[in-house]
Amino acid sequence: MKSAVVIFSGGLDSTTALYWAKKQFEEVYAITFYYGQRHSIEIEMAKITAKNAGVKEHVLFEVDLSKFGASALTDRSLEVPETHSVEEVKERGIPITYVPFRNGVFISIAAAYAESRGTTHLVGGWNAVDYSGYPDCRPEFLSAMEEALNRGTKLGAEGKQWKIHAPLINLTKGEIIKLGLSLGADYSYSISCYRGEEVPCMRCDSCILRAKGWAEAGEEDHLIKRLKEEGKIVE
Ligand SMILES: [Zn+2]
Repeated sequence: MKSAVVIFSGGLDSTTALYWAKKQFEEVYAITFYYGQRHSIEIEMAKITAKNAGVKEHVLFEVDLSKFGASALTDRSLEVPETHSVEEVKERGIPITYVPFRNGVFISIAAAYAESRGTTHLVGGWNAVDYSGYPDCRPEFLSAMEEALNRGTKLGAEGKQWKIHAPLINLTKGEIIKLGLSLGADYSYSISCYRGEEVPCMRCDSCILRAKGWAEAGEEDHLIKRLKEEGKIVE
């Protein structure tokens, strides 16, 4: 039976990756990390989305990267920067919201989980088009990690090939949302905002990129729609 582990933050991209995996694999496991992030509300929402998507198992894993700090996402003394345009996001270089080697840590732990469940397939919502410039989201990093897993695990030693699936890596935000919608993804509980409130700030990188994506997809953001219905956003 083909199965896979999805690294699932509960955000828009990993929600799309989760629905993609549901289509590709018979059994889907999801792992969500609490790493000391300020947007920890995404974890409560991730539980709802994973349940709605019908995953076989959803594991919550704590690995507190805020012990090291050095990122605006894990160190509350650092401000999440304001962003004004998509161009600004792309031209600015690696921002203060970069969490040191976060994806390397996540992939390693997700691989340990996958191996314990007998699978060598990992899936994630990494993207190298409309993204914040984090080097641990790039294709060359993901293929290097695949190689490391082939060499450093029992399943790899026995000849099973590890595969890190990154179905969104070359898609724009609009294309990601369109793909998710075609797979029946429900984004009502997907949280992207770096500031960690349920109601998005609309002024951080993540909110700016997300708004661009929904505009390209030509639909109203499911999250905004739900928040309006619940009276949390007043028009
Ligand atoms: Zn925001």
